[in-house]
Amino acid sequence: MSELNQKAVAKYQNNFLKEVEERVEDGEWVSMCMQCGVCAGSCPLGPHWEHSPQKIFRMIMAGKRDEVLTSDSVWMCTSCYSCIVRCPRKLPITHIMHGIAHYAHRLGVAPKGQPTRELASVFWKNLVKTGRVNELKFSLAVYFKDGFSQGIKNLLGMQGIALGLVKAKRLNPMEIIGGHKCKDVGGIQKMLAKAKEIEDRRQGYTS
Ligand code: SF4
Ligand code: SF4
Repeated sequence: MSELNQKAVAKYQNNFLKEVEERVEDGEWVSMCMQCGVCAGSCPLGPHWEHSPQKIFRMIMAGKRDEVLTSDSVWMCTSCYSCIVRCPRKLPITHIMHGIAHYAHRLGVAPKGQPTRELASVFWKNLVKTGRVNELKFSLAVYFKDGFSQGIKNLLGMQGIALGLVKAKRLNPMEIIGGHKCKDVGGIQKMLAKAKEIEDRRQGYTS
């Protein structure tokens, strides 16, 4: 975390719930959780997670800052919305889980090598470049992120699916040359930079 970002969170050091309420998307809802466990029981990934949403919210209230911000579990949410539909207190659980993941990423404390985080990073870089996702380049970037030989293995493993997609006109090999892009790429990039600047200023971050 940069020195200025350390200063930006210093006032919360002993009150993680307050920090979440003020800096995490929809974080002001966390204290409404009554620990009924419905979200934990409804989440399709529940048995595979270390920390269910119920546990994460309890940990926030208990001030377990490091454990929450470095949790792999907040990166595992697939946005299926089962929890939101069933929560008796109507907490926007999905948004809070993504909000915590995003917050940890911005602070530079999110778990390194977390697959969902890596995928999101590759997706974002691909999208920002032209204003549209180039599916072929995106897939290749994901397959080759762990080196050339692993990339070839990944490609061979997926060749049947790739050929099927090409046949069904869902994947265009010509996209590797340039692909489609938005008319005003520079305008989109300026808009995203401005949005980031506004968010940084509002939350007292620096990058
Ligand atoms: S379902 Fe809602 S109230 Fe119940 S534990 Fe989950 S977040 Fe808390
Ligand atoms: S939206 Fe996320 S946290 Fe909620 S049930 Fe689905 S996977 Fe689990």
